[in-house]
Amino acid sequence: VVPMRLQKFLARAGVASRRGSEDLMTAGRVTVNGATVTELGSKVDPAVDEVRVDGRHVFLGDGPFTIVLNKPAGYLTTMRDPRGRPCVAELVPVAEHPGLFPVGRLDGDTTGLLLFTTDGDLGQALAHPSAEKSKDYVALVEGVVRPHELEPLHDGIELDDGLCAPARGHVLSPRSSRVAAVAPHGVPEGMSVVALTIHEGRKHQVKRMLQAIGHPVVRLHRDGFGPVRLGGLAEGAWRPLTDGEARELD
Ligand code: URA
Repeated sequence: VVPMRLQKFLARAGVASRRGSEDLMTAGRVTVNGATVTELGSKVDPAVDEVRVDGRHVFLGDGPFTIVLNKPAGYLTTMRDPRGRPCVAELVPVAEHPGLFPVGRLDGDTTGLLLFTTDGDLGQALAHPSAEKSKDYVALVEGVVRPHELEPLHDGIELDDGLCAPARGHVLSPRSSRVAAVAPHGVPEGMSVVALTIHEGRKHQVKRMLQAIGHPVVRLHRDGFGPVRLGGLAEGAWRPLTDGEARELD
């Protein structure tokens, strides 16, 4: 490994984002080989230098650790809930990989693909709207949706917090393999299943978009994030990102 900037090392090790790591340095909380380092341009050689934050030895380990969770309904997207409700932290290997945190969020009742990473930079970059990562959703909605009703979503619908970027959507055939996640026993009478791909991540965005065209969401599931697919991952299970996925995501 070649020498790298200390803040990059800290971000890679899962301590904080690069920006947050700079703050730790300027606050005098980071030592290299026993000496406090506040200089932001400082470099370290991960193979030989001993880096500590608040006295705790920080390792690069095997590099950033990023996983995909198939989130079940009923779990909050947070690493700790002061009120003790079930949260996603219980489903991912935080003990082995401290610093693991969710990338963006899914509502408590939404199921499906949720990324976690120890790489503060990657997490922030992916969650930021400017990353424009596609997010693929499948929604069971009330009413029989006719294809033309989705056109406003393609153009960019107006919500109360502003205009949405154009989204892609279509009505799924009941025989589509994507339907089972929201309608395991078949699509109920008087309901439809819609596939929707968005590039933003505002609060309740998909629910609000479909509500706005008159089709309230009954169940919502995410099965894609950028190049990552949920595939056959069981509900509540996680897997590491493949090298290929990690490369494409960056
Ligand atoms: N849009 C929503 O409305 N909810 C989610 O959980 C994700 C996207």
